Amino acid sequence: MKQFPDEKGYFGRYGGRFVPETLVEPVKELEAGFRKYCGDDDFQQELDEILRDYVGRPTPLSYAKRLTEHLGGAKIYLKREDLLHTGAHKINNAIGQVLLAKRMGKHRIIAETGAGQHGVATATAAALLGVECIVYMGAVDVERQALNVKRMNLLGAKVVAVDSGTRTLKDAINEAMRDWVTNVKTTFYCLGSALGPHPYPEMVRNFHRVIGQEAREQILKAEQRLPDELVACVGGGSNAIGLFHAFLDDESVAMVGVEAGGYGIASGKHAARFSGGSAGILHGTYTHMLQNHDGQIQETHSISAGLDYPAVGPEHANLAELGRATYTYADDEAAKDGFRALSRYEGIIPALETSHAVAYVLKRAPELAKDKIMIINVSGRGDKDLEGVAS
Ligand SMILES: *Cc1c(COP(=O)(O)O)cnc(C)c1O
Repeated sequence: MKQFPDEKGYFGRYGGRFVPETLVEPVKELEAGFRKYCGDDDFQQELDEILRDYVGRPTPLSYAKRLTEHLGGAKIYLKREDLLHTGAHKINNAIGQVLLAKRMGKHRIIAETGAGQHGVATATAAALLGVECIVYMGAVDVERQALNVKRMNLLGAKVVAVDSGTRTLKDAINEAMRDWVTNVKTTFYCLGSALGPHPYPEMVRNFHRVIGQEAREQILKAEQRLPDELVACVGGGSNAIGLFHAFLDDESVAMVGVEAGGYGIASGKHAARFSGGSAGILHGTYTHMLQNHDGQIQETHSISAGLDYPAVGPEHANLAELGRATYTYADDEAAKDGFRALSRYEGIIPALETSHAVAYVLKRAPELAKDKIMIINVSGRGDKDLEGVAS
């Protein structure tokens, strides 16, 4: 299929660069750095070495034998991003961006974080590569996520509690943007998902596409053929696009993104942008989001903090419109079932985010014949989620 984004950063009609005047130059400089270094063999070699020796790539593609037999339908494979250092896929992107920052001569990294997962990944990369790290976090989240705040502090990052607005993720993003504008000469803004103004969605995809490249090789080796269906949970959409990207031209491979259904679509308390949202601009990109008739951003809810965001990455909005990928949702209760099922049948406690993808497969696999193959992206491990889900 056609390669996206175009030179202006559009995936079909989605994406682009909607930033205030003061951010136009910083974002252009970032794009120039990204084009210059990420196409460079030296950069790629250093990144590959870190991914192999420190992060733990390649991750296995494991056949889920007991879960497959239990469900009695399609054969299920698991792409094990949960086994990476720090326990989730986010480290792929954090290492890539911090390495790029250093090449661009920026030794001060800023990031925003909600639940703290992206903050921890960025603080880890900054410690490894020896640069300063400042993480903006809503004051409410600082309290709710005390353990991740401790982790970031221990890793040498400075966590700044943001006291404006609702004192959560979107306020932290605004504060990080303000910092970037003020300190652009020394500072690199490390963004955590396939979101934001061009070139972030493309760049973040770039650092995660290794997931799908490995999975494609691994399934061809194990089964001598391509899978029938890929499944991943979708917050901003980085782990999903990381898995999907290498398969976009393989027309026989279906792709399913699973959003957070929260308390159910009817309740209005969810983060299922494709089931209850519409197109608009948020944080620099034109995409699908949850908003009311006046364009006010709607409050979202999910049992998993990583899926709890009002907008989805623009590439997913385009894949949905083209019909190349489909998007569904699993509610909180279904996610808990997924959490327990992968634990009991495979000895793998998945992140609650991942559990949404598992929940979909619990329904879907029995509908498929036994010679069909599904791959679930296990985006992270669930140690962080033990409280709140009864065994
Ligand atoms: C952050 C997170 C997600 C959601 O982010 P995406 O950008 O949609 O991948 C999913 N799973 C885990 C484990 C996470 O930490």
